[in-house]
Amino acid sequence: MGKHIDPVCGKKMNVNKAHIVIDYQGEEYYLCCPLCQREFEQNPQKYIHRNNKK
Ligand SMILES: [Zn+2]
Repeated sequence: MGKHIDPVCGKKMNVNKAHIVIDYQGEEYYLCCPLCQREFEQNPQKYIHRNNKK
């Protein structure tokens, strides 16, 4: 697996090009830019649901 999705904007992220990796509740989230980082940090619950099992 080399691909991750930016949970904020939905962009496919190349791990090497991610702006930042946030470790949240044991999961890693790749954010593409400072804006997505800030959005994620302000509202993590809104975005982590995308990774929850259904
Ligand atoms: Zn983004």
